[in-house]
Amino acid sequence: MALIVQKYGGTSVGTPERIKNVARRVAKFKAQGHDIVVVVSAMSGETNRLIALAKEIQTNPDPRELDVIVSTGEQVTIGLLAMALKEAGVDAKSYTGGQVKILTDSTHTKARIQSIDDDAMRADLNAGRVVIVAGFQGVDPEGNITTLGRGGSDTSGVALAAALKADECQIYTDVDGVYTTDPRVVPEAKKLKTITFEEMLEMASLGSKVLQIRSVEFAGKYNVKLRVLSSFQEEGEGTLITFEEDPNMEKPVVSGIAFNRDEARINVTGVPDKPGIAYQILGPVSDANIDVDMIIQNVGKDGTTDFSFTVPKPDLARTIKVLEGVQAHIGAAQIDGDDKICKISIVGVGMRSHVGVAATMFRTLAEEGINIQMISTSEIKISVIVDEKYLELAVRVLHKAFGLDKG
Ligand code: ADP
Ligand code: ASP
Ligand code: MG
Repeated sequence: MALIVQKYGGTSVGTPERIKNVARRVAKFKAQGHDIVVVVSAMSGETNRLIALAKEIQTNPDPRELDVIVSTGEQVTIGLLAMALKEAGVDAKSYTGGQVKILTDSTHTKARIQSIDDDAMRADLNAGRVVIVAGFQGVDPEGNITTLGRGGSDTSGVALAAALKADECQIYTDVDGVYTTDPRVVPEAKKLKTITFEEMLEMASLGSKVLQIRSVEFAGKYNVKLRVLSSFQEEGEGTLITFEEDPNMEKPVVSGIAFNRDEARINVTGVPDKPGIAYQILGPVSDANIDVDMIIQNVGKDGTTDFSFTVPKPDLARTIKVLEGVQAHIGAAQIDGDDKICKISIVGVGMRSHVGVAATMFRTLAEEGINIQMISTSEIKISVIVDEKYLELAVRVLHKAFGLDKG
């Protein structure tokens, strides 16, 4: 008998029929004698609908009130699932994040979990009940409703598993595991039996939304056994996120390819090539609370240099405005932005011990006539920025070039 936390994503609870299906699955595990805590997302499309609704009233929604609104999506599904379980003859009880309570900081729309009170859940489990918790939401020390950022139910699931010292955290979604790349973009993508935490962290941070990055960080930090599975298949091992690389297994050089359409590039050209210039450009951007990702500064020529970096697409206009405010002070000739770009990254712990990976990546893109605008590397990943129109082509040819379609 084990204590299992199961998280079901939006598509898995997208219709009443699917909610009944989740109830059947939970009932099956319960009948095997396991203690089950279920975390659910809002029905698919609901969070987007609620955000759009808020924006009809306020173009830039007040963050506290936005959290009040978007957290209702999950409140509906916990109630529906509890009813479906009761209908199936299984005792169950639903909890909002605040009722549990999942205490977070006060950063509305991207709050961080600080602690979880497990007393009520334990009492229910001991009484033989299935506990159902609303994903994505918590409560701050003042009692305000908070949310954990898009995809945050994954993090709720892992955090509950950590707090309850669960034997396993199962993330049920609409694909049957973590693939070499998004199977919706490359049909030849292969399911991975295992992936290391390090690789999964990179994949998540570089755009693979199958797991929210914070959920992977949490699982790594608290040693949570984490598995991704399909809610639409009866059988299957899914993908296990592993702590250690198996020394007996020949690791592929590249394990997966991630991509991200959500960034925009800023160019600041003709800036004086002198100490402090990076700070003068990025300081005001950071003061405006805008996250900067890739940064490139060219070698100066004739006393001036060019500086480029990427920011989240929704922050592009604001970033340009901030920079125009300091343009004269910096002495920059021109500031422009491009939101028709995407970032493509190859990820693999095997890169540590292999040379020539970058060359293969760049040759493969060159052969398709795809121009690389920016490059950044770390020990286990290489990312490039290319024109958005090449996204699918680039991911497909790289997937083939690194033999990922061979499984
Ligand atoms: P949920 O609503 O269950 O949380 P998400 O839409 O957030 O589901 O995440 C699942 C989706 O992640 C899949 O449908 C798939 O399109 C996408 N995805 C992106 N990269 C990968 C990958 N490497 N492996 C599997 N799925 C991926
Ligand atoms: N419903 C939230 C979202 O769409 C949280 C989640 O599904 O994980 O982002
Ligand atoms: Mg998700």
